[in-house]
Amino acid sequence: MEQKDLLKEIISHCKEYGFVFPSSEIYDGLAATYDYGQLGAELKNNIKTYWWKSMTQLNSNIVGLDSAIFMHPTIWKASGHVDAFNDPLIDNKDSKKRYRADVLLEEYLEKQTQKIQKEVEKGEKRFGDSFDKEQFIATNPNVLRIKEKQGQVQERMKTALNDSNLEDLRQLIIDLEIVCPISGSKNWTEVRQFNLMFSTSLGSVAGESATIYLRPETAQGIFVNFLNVQKSGRMKIPFGIAQIGKAFRNEIVARQFIFRMREFEQMEMQFFVKPGEELTWYEHWKEVRRKWHLNLGLGEKNYRFHDHIKLAHYANAACDIEFNFPMGFKELEGIHSRTDFDLKQHELHSGKKLHYFDPSTNESFVPYVVETSVGLDRLFLSVLSASYTEETLEDGSERTVLKIPAALAPYKIAILPLIKKDGLPEKAQEIMRMLQLEYTIQYDEKDSIGKRYRRQDAIGTPFAITIDHETLENNSVTIRNRDTMIQERIAIESLPAFLNTHCSWPSILGALV
Ligand code: ATP
Repeated sequence: MEQKDLLKEIISHCKEYGFVFPSSEIYDGLAATYDYGQLGAELKNNIKTYWWKSMTQLNSNIVGLDSAIFMHPTIWKASGHVDAFNDPLIDNKDSKKRYRADVLLEEYLEKQTQKIQKEVEKGEKRFGDSFDKEQFIATNPNVLRIKEKQGQVQERMKTALNDSNLEDLRQLIIDLEIVCPISGSKNWTEVRQFNLMFSTSLGSVAGESATIYLRPETAQGIFVNFLNVQKSGRMKIPFGIAQIGKAFRNEIVARQFIFRMREFEQMEMQFFVKPGEELTWYEHWKEVRRKWHLNLGLGEKNYRFHDHIKLAHYANAACDIEFNFPMGFKELEGIHSRTDFDLKQHELHSGKKLHYFDPSTNESFVPYVVETSVGLDRLFLSVLSASYTEETLEDGSERTVLKIPAALAPYKIAILPLIKKDGLPEKAQEIMRMLQLEYTIQYDEKDSIGKRYRRQDAIGTPFAITIDHETLENNSVTIRNRDTMIQERIAIESLPAFLNTHCSWPSILGALV
């Protein structure tokens, strides 16, 4: 399936089965906001649990936090968000469509990367088994020319972004002859900075209200609670604080379904370390997070690291883990070495000391921070896009199946009495009561067994247990595997051990210990 079509398929599948609905739909929707339906809420909670447990349960030096969305407005002054949390926007005068200037340029660079890839594929075809990819990339004149141009564009873009030189950013777009994908024209406006924070006012009495912001990231809640947690939890450096919560950004271009929303959820972990050790920890967390993603089993080739061209004002190293979404490789998670910027800024603006006292050396210092920050909604989309599969079966019929990692599936088990009589439903209910303390289960006795299997495939239920007449005779059931469609007969008393191996939390977390 074409990648573009895949996104459309996923959007309509999500709506049809209750994963994701457009928000406020009966009022024609609200741009870039979505509601998670009955299955979406389960899947989202499971992704959160996978992250939360891997952070706080598997690391004795990482603890959780749940800070308020509303915070003192000075926090956002201190963090730099009031003055610098901007995106450079540009409009096309013909289509009246608005774009992020940096994204237009990133897309241009990505196209060049694809051109290089095409040259490599051509070379592979031409030279066959004797093809040496590295040598080809290092010597092929076409590849070298594209790479040189790419390097120049990257350098100019970096300088323009770092110096906030909006004129040169625009000039670069014009020099590269980048056209609006809608109108096809190069008729661009000036580039302007646009602050992404939503504001509202606190206090109901006129004259007493103060402007406050909806947090654009969860991280600041962690920074301002750093000493509270460290002291009350007797934490010793290095240690981490993890948080899952909503964040809000007035995104200029919010398209592509739940990839870019104005209200979304982040899962962030700030790891506090000794100054000077931050780059070692940065490499450590890059590797830990890589393994965490790969452990989902969505395919190694779907991930790549991308070092930031422009470092944020607070960072001394930063990269993204990108995922191969239906729209191409895009950021899924950011890993940043944030130095002591945030804690120092909060010391300055609050007048309170945010030092850590190290009893082993009698030293007191402001820790450095390495953060991992992943978007929950983007993870949700990555899971769905890698698991959505359309298959033609041996008998020529088609099935749509969501091959969601078993431990994350909204329902782990479907319980299906073969027919609605002869005591089979009662036996099925008995099995359901036995398993439901541990697992989410969908009970279904309507329609033919084949139709019921298809329904469970479409919502990603990894196992279907069928209760038939033999069950009443010898207490065994069939268990059908969603992905292989193989059915095996198994004793009811063996079900807990079977499910524990295949879809419990230990089954997915085990590889991370
Ligand atoms: P982008 O470059 O795509 O705008 P960002 O670099 O601004 O993202 P960060 O500030 O590093 O993003 O935020 C951390 C994570 O939060 C991102 O990796 C992403 O998964 C998620 N995220 C950021 N903005 C959005 C959004 N508008 N909708 C959904 N998820 C988001």
